[in-house]
Amino acid sequence: MIPYGRQEVLPADIDAVVEVLRSDFITQGPVVPKFEEAVAAYCGAKYAVAVTSGTAALHIACLTMDLAPGDRLWTVPNTFVASANCGLYCGADIDFVDIDPATRNMSVVALREKLEAAEARGKLPRIVIPVHFGGHSCEMTDIQELAERYGFCVLEDACHAIGGWHQGTPVGACDHSDAAVFSFHPVKNITTGEGGVLLTNREDVAERARRLRTHGITRDPTEMSEGGQGRWYYEQIDLGYNYRMTDMQAALGLSQLQRLDDYVERRGALARRYDHSLADLPVRRPVESDSVRSAWHLYVVSIEDGEYGGRDAVFERMVAAGIGVNVHYLPVHLQPVYRRRGFAPGDFPEAERHGRQALTLPLFPNLTETDQDCVAEALADALRS
Ligand SMILES: *Cc1c(COP(=O)(O)O)cnc(C)c1O
Repeated sequence: MIPYGRQEVLPADIDAVVEVLRSDFITQGPVVPKFEEAVAAYCGAKYAVAVTSGTAALHIACLTMDLAPGDRLWTVPNTFVASANCGLYCGADIDFVDIDPATRNMSVVALREKLEAAEARGKLPRIVIPVHFGGHSCEMTDIQELAERYGFCVLEDACHAIGGWHQGTPVGACDHSDAAVFSFHPVKNITTGEGGVLLTNREDVAERARRLRTHGITRDPTEMSEGGQGRWYYEQIDLGYNYRMTDMQAALGLSQLQRLDDYVERRGALARRYDHSLADLPVRRPVESDSVRSAWHLYVVSIEDGEYGGRDAVFERMVAAGIGVNVHYLPVHLQPVYRRRGFAPGDFPEAERHGRQALTLPLFPNLTETDQDCVAEALADALRS
């Protein structure tokens, strides 16, 4: 079975992790700050805060922006459930903005309309989370303009997009957002096993995030109510969590980061090969806007409803042919947890259509061209049956 995604772990990665295992600190040592500095420098952001997962990064990012019960968080239905769950963790109300069918990212037109309506009812969101689907950045300048006009925070779910670019700037630079989040799950562009990072140029967000990932505890006397008591003294001033990344994970991430540019280039080359080999098939291929360089985390095609038995039949034929296809994403608002909160089919038609038609093909740096040709042939066969 050719999987849809797969990590690459090289001897240098293993050596880096082993070195940490032989050292004095396997967590809370020197490698996590080194990894944070490297990721911040790579993206051109001021601060990076490493945590246990992309989900943890989303959660504490919401907390640093004071998301609380009664507040509203908006994201897209075409994402992993974590982009919405982080708001529920904070007791906020979740709502969704439909997608643009071309990029499958948050539609700026839909966002603008929804904001106008929300303003009239006095129900503007505190946070909006655009998701860079498949590694293709959202239209961040337009979203930032709306953020300034309507006064919400922008939190980029960039879990697919490390290594991608938007208007000549790396994704994660946060020049159009309050913060951005990456995940280092093995299926993502680089991995730490489990892990994530929060990037920001806001000192207040970075400081609070550092505290929240370690129980809300501070050792800085200027932040304490009873400061200046001694070196042994600390205070818990926030309700935080244990979301700390280990030095073993950071060492793996630091080693993988050296290859990120090569990975993204290879993914892009494979994407162009798919564009070529699928050109005559009746599927809609992913697009890349002029102002964007995608990180090509996913290669998702769409199969029209009813054609060749539709996506579900094509999916089954691909699996039978040994191709590990996937679906990104079943719309989040149709998950039982969200239906119980009042969402229903028909609420976000473009995301629902995408969810019915989407088929993710294998794409990862060490996918061989021979294997990729098998995928293309299997898809051609599946569309003939
Ligand atoms: C992977 C992913 C997450 C969650 O990241 P974890 O590290 O698995 O917690 C969130 N959002 C999107 C879009 C993702 O792809």
